[in-house]
Amino acid sequence: MRFYSTNSPLSFTSLADAIMKSLPEDNGLFMPETIPALSPEFFENIERSSFSEIAFEVAKQYLSPDLSLKEIREITDDAINFPVPLVELEKGTFMLELFHGPTLAFKDVGARFMSRTMALLNKNQSKKLTILVATSGDTGSAVANGFYKVEGIEVIILYPSGKVSPLQEKQLTTLGGNITALEIKGTFDDCQRMVKLAFLDTSLREKYRLSSANSINIARLIPQSFYYFDAFRQLKDKSAPVYFSVPSGNFGNLTAGLLAKRMGLPIAAFIASTNENNSVPRYLNSGEYEPTHTIATISNAMDVGAPSNFARMNHLYHESVDEMRSDITGYYFSDTDTRSEMINTYSRYRYMLDPHAAVGLLGWKEFKKSAPDHAQGIVLETAHPTKFIDVVKETLNIEPEIPKALADLITLEKKSVLMGPEYEGLKSFLMSR
Ligand SMILES: *Cc1c(COP(=O)(O)O)cnc(C)c1O
Repeated sequence: MRFYSTNSPLSFTSLADAIMKSLPEDNGLFMPETIPALSPEFFENIERSSFSEIAFEVAKQYLSPDLSLKEIREITDDAINFPVPLVELEKGTFMLELFHGPTLAFKDVGARFMSRTMALLNKNQSKKLTILVATSGDTGSAVANGFYKVEGIEVIILYPSGKVSPLQEKQLTTLGGNITALEIKGTFDDCQRMVKLAFLDTSLREKYRLSSANSINIARLIPQSFYYFDAFRQLKDKSAPVYFSVPSGNFGNLTAGLLAKRMGLPIAAFIASTNENNSVPRYLNSGEYEPTHTIATISNAMDVGAPSNFARMNHLYHESVDEMRSDITGYYFSDTDTRSEMINTYSRYRYMLDPHAAVGLLGWKEFKKSAPDHAQGIVLETAHPTKFIDVVKETLNIEPEIPKALADLITLEKKSVLMGPEYEGLKSFLMSR
């Protein structure tokens, strides 16, 4: 399939280009030429399919014929190797647990799919592909893990020294192999600036084939639609209307849901649930889009003042707020609301929520007040509660059990290269390898 930029809908680029470039030159975002509808047979057979078979059926609509069906099957079988259980909290309220992957967050799905797709698209190139990425924590750990041991690709991650959580730092620095962690004595913005300069440096680009792995890459968006279908597969009642509440920051997850709906998945509507970084809910209320500075909250993976996928959403609704409102309702919540919901859910159901999922559940509860009685709400649970263990501990006053994968990580030795926040240092490191 071909792809175009939201800023130039009449000029097309190949799948490989859209993925390797990540961002079009005109500052838009890549979109698929068409959003293919899945066949009625697909939906009739969905209960008999596995998650990875569903992933294959969806993925092939976008990746074929650029990749062969055999290659696409390889990608989805290998990338989608953990379940996304749908858990019913009470009648009509479900949590979709997206945190059973290696770094315990939904970003594993996108990162694992992108890495394997890039490796196959790159396999006839003589030069190795180098992924250069700046991270403030979560994205970097999913990317590091997703690309670990993927052939023909190496990853260089820049992270701000002392500014990621101890657990995140271990996730970035203990893999080794094709993953190199550079610990920058500066801020996340310094890391990002250094990466940007590297992409503009022609002498560096003679030596390296560079690509990025940021969250707006179309190869991360496509796989995020898989689990909307898998949630529907798991629903017992497929006739009552289904609503998805999506705890959102950059709105990649929600935009992937919009693709799923347009591919034919019967989703009644979406709930955009945010923390105080509420540019999209405010837009849906007022009709004015006014992105702002970022506010720090306890659901910090959603601390985004100017969501990068807003351009895609706006494009899908022809820049019309009324059209968007017919599919999406927005709500935002304070940290106090979020903590109360974590406490409430734990005391009612003995179910532990991380702060992001709590925001999602609040959104569904708010929406439900005016929804039909038989409406079913599915909340995307974007992270395992122990990923945000400090917030969970101080809010619930309990000591959550750490999953073994994380507990083992703490004992591993950190391996990073410490350097200053100047581009010259990064360049000489890269040129001398
Ligand atoms: C990244 C992230 C989000 C936000 O997802 P977007 O696709 O950026 O809206 C929500 N929760 C967690 C735990 C995340 O890591």
